[in-house]
Order: sequence, then C-alpha cells, then structure tokens
Amino acid sequence: MPRPDLSARLAAAQAQRARDGLLRRLRTVESVAGSRITIDGKSLADFGSNDYLGLAQHPALRAALTRAVDCWGVGAGAAHLLGGHRDEHAALEEKLALWTGRERALLFSTGYMANLGVAGTLLRDGDVCVQDKLNHASLIDAARLSGAEFVRYRHADADSARRQLRARPDAAAILATDAVFSMDGDLAPLRELAVLCKREHATLMIDDAHGIGVLGPDGAGSPGAVGLAQNDAPILMATLGKALGVAGAFVAGSTALIEGLVQFARPYVYTTAMPPALAAAASAAVDIARNDSERRERLHRHIARFRHGAAQRGIALLPSSTPIQPVPAGDSATASSIAQRLEGTGFYVPAIRPPSVPANGARLRVSLSAAHAEDQIERLLDALAIALAAERR
Ligand SMILES: *Cc1c(COP(=O)(O)O)cnc(C)c1O
Repeated sequence: MPRPDLSARLAAAQAQRARDGLLRRLRTVESVAGSRITIDGKSLADFGSNDYLGLAQHPALRAALTRAVDCWGVGAGAAHLLGGHRDEHAALEEKLALWTGRERALLFSTGYMANLGVAGTLLRDGDVCVQDKLNHASLIDAARLSGAEFVRYRHADADSARRQLRARPDAAAILATDAVFSMDGDLAPLRELAVLCKREHATLMIDDAHGIGVLGPDGAGSPGAVGLAQNDAPILMATLGKALGVAGAFVAGSTALIEGLVQFARPYVYTTAMPPALAAAASAAVDIARNDSERRERLHRHIARFRHGAAQRGIALLPSSTPIQPVPAGDSATASSIAQRLEGTGFYVPAIRPPSVPANGARLRVSLSAAHAEDQIERLLDALAIALAAERR
C-alpha cells in the first residue's frame, strides 16, 4: 500500500461536502452599526450575532479598552505565568468570581480552550466524561483529548445521564452540559443533573456560554437562575465573547480547582495571556451586565415578542426561552434557500446545517439582542412567514 496522500484526501472530503451541498462559506462583514451589518455592499439587520446585550459597540467598553491600550499597549507579551498577568486580568477575575458567586475565577483566551483546560486537568485514562448529546463541540473535543471514556446521554435527559453514570460506578466522573444549548436555545435540566451528580459522586461541569449576562439574578448566569451555588455546580465555564461583547472566557469554582488549573491546564499555561485591554473591556461589560437590568429586560421582551409574533403568523419554533430562537427548516437546501430569501429582503439570519446540527435538523438560527428595535423583529417575522410559505409551494 502506498502512503495515503493528505492533500488528495482533503480534496476528496471537500468535494464530498460540496456534493452534499454543505460547503461553508466565509463572508466578510464590511461595516457594523448597531444591529445592522453590511455584507456584499448590502445593509442587513443582523440576527446572527451572539452579542445578546448589545455591548460589543458600547461606548463604555470602547473607552475601557482604549484607556488600557494607552496604559499597557496591545499585547500581554507573555503567558500569565511568565509575566503576562496584569492588574486588568486580576481585577476581572475577582469581579467574575464575585458576580457568579464562586471563590475564584480564571481567565482563558477562548471558551474552547477553557473547556479543554478543565477536562485535561481533571480527567485521565480510566475516568469517564458523561455529556449531553447536543453539547458544544469544544466540550466534546475536551473529553476526547482528555483520554477519559467519552459517553453521551439523550438530550436534556437526566435519567439517561443516570444510566450512563451507573454503568460505570468505579470511574471518576465529570458530567458536562451546556446550560443553554447553542443551536437549540433550550435549557439543560440543571437542578436534576446537580442532584444526580451529588448522588453519584460525579462532578457537574456547566458551560454557560449563552447564559452569562442573560439569565439569573443580575445576569450572573444559568446556575443562579435555578438556585445552584458552587457546592451544587462546582465547575462553571462561561465566555466573554457573547452577551459580554468582548472575547475570551473564564472558569469559576473553588480555590482548589482554580489553583489546580493554574498548575496543570495546558491551554492556560502554554499560551499568551489575553490582551489586558480586552480584560479591561470585559470588566466594563460585566459592570453593565450586572447593573443595567433594563437592557436584559428589553432582551427578554424581544424574546417574548418574537415568540408571540411567530405563533400569530403560524411560524413553528423550537421550545426556547432564550435569545437563541431557531426556526426549523428540515433539509439543508431549504435552510440555505430561506436564508437567501431573508437576505434578499434585508435580514442576516445564518442557516445552520449538519454537521453542526443532526441530519435533517437544518434551521435558521435567529439570535435576538437588546440592540434590536421592536419593529426590526416584527419585520423579520413578516419576512420569515413569506420565505417559509414560498418554500412550501
Ligand atoms: C461559543 C461557545 C464556546 C466557545 O467559546 P469561545 O470563547 O467562542 O471559544 C463554548 N461553549 C459553548 C456552548 C459555546 O456556545
């Protein structure tokens, strides 16, 4: 057998994806103003962004970032442990711990890396990582890389999770779940999972990428929304790039957990610290997310308006109470075609297709933001109703 040629194999995979009509297309946004973006010279209402609170362009974040750049310059210049850790990082970590009700918090450059860091630090060969079937790719990769056995349970099904844990009573275990599922917008049964983990001596890990800033008292996230404290949900990961409008992520939990991560989490140790100016901007974002409850209430009013308007127009939605409001489209071609029709009438709504979602689970992923205007939402619903009807003909 000759040695397989890597570029030929890559080209074949690419060609297959093209035949399946599933090629992903990278598009460049030419300008941003509030909830409008310009793509291909056309101004569109943006319903694809995870900037749920509309903070990415907020003047207070811009000012905090500029001030920090004036003070520190741009790059941190080194990893946290090798001289890259600054006042801005330390202050943000303290603020995040306080906000989420955890002893400590630790910054990572991305949520993807934070998840890899946690699993890689805690798990090893012979352990088990039990996960919801619809968890984010970064949690799946984290389990796979950790060397632990990786098993999944039925979506949002604590009984199914229990069976998976009980089948491996002797293995050290993490049960990991998205709190808000990134492509469905629905919620994990966190309370049931917390009870299960206590009973089975497993450690609950919550990925709150889409809950932080949006849910819970003071926007502190999903665990607080259902009354789970550090003792019930010992590992909390959340990102700074979605509702908080910046970039990066953090893990929050006990002092012992955080000190362990500082020692052993490879995606923490072996990477350049996030620019201090981003930490300063994120810090300003946390202040607004905590204190400006009107912004959060506005977002939740938008969610209610969208769901009510969809029901009135006979548009089927998934059961979601969060800013992620997917509109099922069935096959990928239909989803892409609806997205194109929407774009033709002035709305950017990404079509999500396999492998990001299960086969035949293609959908339009509508993301709502406090930055939207009420009438943008009404007009999107009108456009959606027309596009869906056109596809049915
Ligand atoms: C976006 C996301 C991540 C990754 O966070 P990044 O900071 O963008 O790398 C992790 N988990 C979930 C559920 C996400 O939606």
